[in-house]
Amino acid sequence: MSKKLLSVLLSTAMVAALLVGCGNSAAEEPAAATEEAAPAEEAPAEEEAAPAEDAAEAPAAAAGTKVGVSMPTKDLQRWNQDGANMQSELEAAGYEVDLQYANNEPQTQVSQIENMISNGANVLVIAAIEASSLGEALDMAKAANIPVIAYDRLIMNSDAVSYYATFDNYKVGVTQGQYIVDTLDLDNAEGPFNLEVTAGDPGDNNAPFFYNGAMDTLKPYIESGKLVVKSGQTEFEEVGTPQWKTETAQSRADNIISSFYADGTNIDVWLCSNDSTALGVETALANSYNGEYPIVTGQDCDIENTKNMIAGKQSMSVFKDTRTLASQVVKMVGQILNGEEVEVNDTETYDNGTGVIPSFLCEPVFADANNYKELLIDSGYYTEDQLK
Ligand code: BGC
Repeated sequence: MSKKLLSVLLSTAMVAALLVGCGNSAAEEPAAATEEAAPAEEAPAEEEAAPAEDAAEAPAAAAGTKVGVSMPTKDLQRWNQDGANMQSELEAAGYEVDLQYANNEPQTQVSQIENMISNGANVLVIAAIEASSLGEALDMAKAANIPVIAYDRLIMNSDAVSYYATFDNYKVGVTQGQYIVDTLDLDNAEGPFNLEVTAGDPGDNNAPFFYNGAMDTLKPYIESGKLVVKSGQTEFEEVGTPQWKTETAQSRADNIISSFYADGTNIDVWLCSNDSTALGVETALANSYNGEYPIVTGQDCDIENTKNMIAGKQSMSVFKDTRTLASQVVKMVGQILNGEEVEVNDTETYDNGTGVIPSFLCEPVFADANNYKELLIDSGYYTEDQLK
């Protein structure tokens, strides 16, 4: 058993010892999570996500146990869904929940986490704004023996992090890259095709995983000259979008269009790491581009982007069902508090600078205008009205 796991188990055993009858926790339910693209049918959009079936019977077990949930921002749709799902699932399992959004300000996130600790949180679930900016708060968590689960984004350079739960971030990028290879038929078509690249926030540890997954897939075609990047900007440092801001992605795309494509030269494909950046690129294309509309990739199936997929302005997205991740994390919280073995499925990929953090990676799922109904509406993630 690793030292890290041992220390988490020892510290949490103390918490667990204080709880009566922990064995019946909802967290023991098998993860709906691991089923590919199979969101729980009974979780309607805009209503609280449906708790695991046994959750309603379990609350007494978790009574008095507090879970602090720290989310980065309310500005991007997905974090609102993540927070709401976590809150409803944790409450259904009987935990008290302290959910905070930090307005994309790292210092606010630090103070919010410190408050959670002062208010008696037993476990912390944190989606970090910046991978390396939570030092003081995490030191405090460690000193208080409070286990920390990094949610979706890995927290770097801190040995206070016990577990990590996310989607397979590299695979998200591969899905985008492979879609481009297949759609342009790069193995057979003559080309060349013009490509531009927009990546994510350099402060977010996920961003290079998305970028590398896509670029490792596209690199052979860039090297052979079948894909040409007219702006010359391909390095992660050149194509990143601080804080994943739509406006920042838009203004960079505006510049690229006016500098390299003003004469009507076609952009064949614009690789965007996620939906918020894709939205900026789509606005720039609508404003100032005169060529044939390119393939545009994304990730998250945000409402605006799904509408754009339906309207033909975005070619694909990657669906990461926030209900799936929330269920998995609630399960991990229960396992930690009960002193049980915590279910992980990756013990190699995510080294945060202090060692590999045991991780659970959920499956991302390809989405486009052909399958969005099944993935998003039939599963209850959105209502049809939300996409009008
Ligand atoms: C998440 C993505 C999201 C991005 C911007 C990343 O850490 O994994 O799903 O699009 O942050 O919020």
